[in-house]
Amino acid sequence: MRFSGVAVVDLSRKWVAKARYWVPLEGGKVRCNLCYKRCPIASGGYGACGVRYNSGGTLYTLVYGLLTAVNLDPIEKKPLMHFMPGSSVISISTAGCNFMCMFCQNWSISQSRRGDVFGEFHTPEDVVNIGKKYKADGISYTYNEPTIYYEYMFDVAKLAKREGMFNTMVTNGYMGDEALIELSRYMDAATVDFKGGGNLDFYRKFMGVPDPEPIFTSLKIMKDKGIFVEVTNLVVPKYGDDVNDVRKLARWINDNLGPETPFHLLRFYPHYMMSDVPPTLLEVLERLAKVALDEGLKHVYLGNVPGHELEHTYCPSCNYLLVRRYGFDVVEWNLSEGNKCPKCGYKVNIVGSFKGKERRFAWW
Ligand code: SF4
Repeated sequence: MRFSGVAVVDLSRKWVAKARYWVPLEGGKVRCNLCYKRCPIASGGYGACGVRYNSGGTLYTLVYGLLTAVNLDPIEKKPLMHFMPGSSVISISTAGCNFMCMFCQNWSISQSRRGDVFGEFHTPEDVVNIGKKYKADGISYTYNEPTIYYEYMFDVAKLAKREGMFNTMVTNGYMGDEALIELSRYMDAATVDFKGGGNLDFYRKFMGVPDPEPIFTSLKIMKDKGIFVEVTNLVVPKYGDDVNDVRKLARWINDNLGPETPFHLLRFYPHYMMSDVPPTLLEVLERLAKVALDEGLKHVYLGNVPGHELEHTYCPSCNYLLVRRYGFDVVEWNLSEGNKCPKCGYKVNIVGSFKGKERRFAWW
């Protein structure tokens, strides 16, 4: 569901809270260290994400609990194919984002800034209670970049954990080290989204990001801290579909996160300021998938292509069909006890089992 109509300008509002991860500078300025943009912000000014505000030398978040969406989603939608398959999650978002992607499919919330910030207030308890009411297995911080509502995400995640739910986030990977390490106490899994193969010029030209390098540092921290990671890459025709970039990215994942890390190549659809760019051709996605497989990755998926054979999980050892999917739905589960291939016994990197789960979603 979407909410609308609440403008945030008044610091006495209940969704305005003191921010974390910033330092004072001279003359009432502050530096926000929550993400790698590390914005210097003058008094009366906003950070690049548009939702962190310096009032008289103190930094505030303007979106603590000011939610733009609360949805019940299948976890496969994140996408997370290897973490708690068949689970349902309460997905939440606020307005704002630290990136300015010209092709963002959620631009109406992510690109809200300053006085345009909108939403409906929910306490962390509200979100967890909604999860319980709808029998969700976890909470997902998603749709816009969750880093920019860190304080709220942290409080919800802590409470959700206490109530027996897991936490997952869909992130661009630009969260600062200190914040990420602290969050890792409660965060179970993350989908880390690349665009355009992680190409430097692509990030600068189409996303307002000076350098994608910190994303790789974040991925290493996530692995080190035991957060289950799946990596996606949005393939943007003509501007962000270079085969060498995907090869480089797949090689890095293989070398640093391991060959069992699920890697998703996502089909681009025209959105926002790039609505004149056509969807990614299927043959381009298939060619890139082959490149990623040749680099040694064992689980390469195509996203936004329902019905394609690369939505399924195959045994890396004997190629037996282990999990058949359609869109976000698991339609066949052939793994044996301990998530092993029933044919050759290969142990697959999947956390949790679909066995015994009610099929609660039929999306297509
Ligand atoms: S979270 Fe926002 S204010 Fe803080 S560094 Fe990132 S973009 Fe700047």
